[in-house]
Amino acid sequence: MNVPISELPRVVIIGGGFGGVSLARKLEKKPFQVVMLDKRNYHTFQPLLYQVSTSGLEPDSIAYPIRKILKRNNNAYFRMAEVKNIYDKKRVVETNIGEITYDYLVIATGSKTNFFGNKSVEENAIWMKTVPQALNLRSLILENFEEATIAKDPERRKSLLNFVIAGAGPTGVELSGALAELRRNVIPKDYQDIDPEEIHIHLIEGLDKVLPPMSDESSANAQKYLEELGVEIHLNTFVDSYEDNIVKTNNEDLSFNTETFIWSAGVTGAAIDGLKNEALIDKANRYNVNTFNQIEGYENIFAIGDIALMTSEEFPKGHPMVAQPAIQQGKHLAKNLLRTINKQKLLPFEYLDKGTMATVGRNKAVVDLDNVKFGGAFAWFVWMFVHLWFLVGFRNRIVTFFNWTYSYINYDRAARLIVRPFKANKEKSPD
Ligand SMILES: Cc1cc2nc3c(=O)[nH]c(=O)nc-3n(C[C@H](O)[C@H](O)[C@H](O)COP(=O)(O)OP(=O)(O)OC[C@H]3O[C@@H](n4cnc5c(N)ncnc54)[C@H](O)[C@@H]3O)c2cc1C
Repeated sequence: MNVPISELPRVVIIGGGFGGVSLARKLEKKPFQVVMLDKRNYHTFQPLLYQVSTSGLEPDSIAYPIRKILKRNNNAYFRMAEVKNIYDKKRVVETNIGEITYDYLVIATGSKTNFFGNKSVEENAIWMKTVPQALNLRSLILENFEEATIAKDPERRKSLLNFVIAGAGPTGVELSGALAELRRNVIPKDYQDIDPEEIHIHLIEGLDKVLPPMSDESSANAQKYLEELGVEIHLNTFVDSYEDNIVKTNNEDLSFNTETFIWSAGVTGAAIDGLKNEALIDKANRYNVNTFNQIEGYENIFAIGDIALMTSEEFPKGHPMVAQPAIQQGKHLAKNLLRTINKQKLLPFEYLDKGTMATVGRNKAVVDLDNVKFGGAFAWFVWMFVHLWFLVGFRNRIVTFFNWTYSYINYDRAARLIVRPFKANKEKSPD
């Protein structure tokens, strides 16, 4: 891999997501050689992927080159590589571009889409975990609008203008809210031959509320906002299959004819082959880590972020699979790696829950803090501020801020482009 041999201990980090990047930054100017491996050459700010797929932001605003993140560290190397296997006894990581040895290995590979074994959904639905996938979805939505303007068969037109989203977690809620705003603000201007009333946005959720991880108050507010925007919500409903453009549910009377079925109903760990059996919690496909983020059975292999399952009294099922645990664990592990080489005792990780939030649309968001829950316009401004703050890169923050301000004033979406058509071959991009 052309990484020089160094006298410094080598930390190999697999994954340049929230966890990997926060760890790498904290290891700057510390006595380690850092090697970051990622199958993409950029960091993705996943919370804003839905804005790319609904034409609100250009992909460059939410992605950032990993090499640029590492550039201040003379002892850091990036290799664009997909990790295939770990050979723990040899301390070697195998990738599609060769092998590399490690002294300390950190797995920060995040998660991938979970279809819960439903093959028809996996084969026919579309989902959104990466930038290419968000661009595919953007193309599909716009191509369907284009096709609807010329469709002669009323049933086909209906199917093109029906949008169905499974999973009312933050991604499903944010996507359906953004689609509803597209229908309200953009369609009447761009597609005079489509009546916005013809467009239906259905949100399906298996549980009895939207945003299940949030407080009842915020769930109820989010549901109210979505309904105000005209999103049709179907709670206590499970998807059975999606074939021939028909979504069938567990309710015989409820099925949808649609060419856009978006799956946002779950994720599972993106684990790598090669570690001992006890390292992995099979059901979740996440690594079983102790409070120092060490993977069960190993002292020098760690996992952080979505891929790590660390249980505690407060979090018996592990931390939520969101950005904050990944960021905090990355920072904390940097301290513990330093303590390791200084022969000091490791410090246990404690998660500081900074709250949860989700946006539904213009002036509509919900925020859950420890003791305070609020929604509406103020929550929306808080949501925007927090997302701008955490976006990687000054340019990205400025461009995103400018885009949001422009869209707010003009009720517009900047990026309504079918750059790479998706429908013709439906070539899906892997997670
Ligand atoms: C659509 C969407 C919306 C979200 N919205 C929010 C939100 O609003 N708020 C929030 O807090 N969280 C949100 N999340 C969750 C949040 O993005 C994750 O919890 C967070 O990204 C986890 O960070 P991580 O470092 O563990 O993994 P990631 O950020 O997913 O990074 C994993 C990295 O590992 C790389 N990788 C994976 N496997 C390999 C391999 N075998 N070889 C090489 N590289 C590999 C990937 O390319 C990726 O760069 C959202 C997630 C999605 C998908």
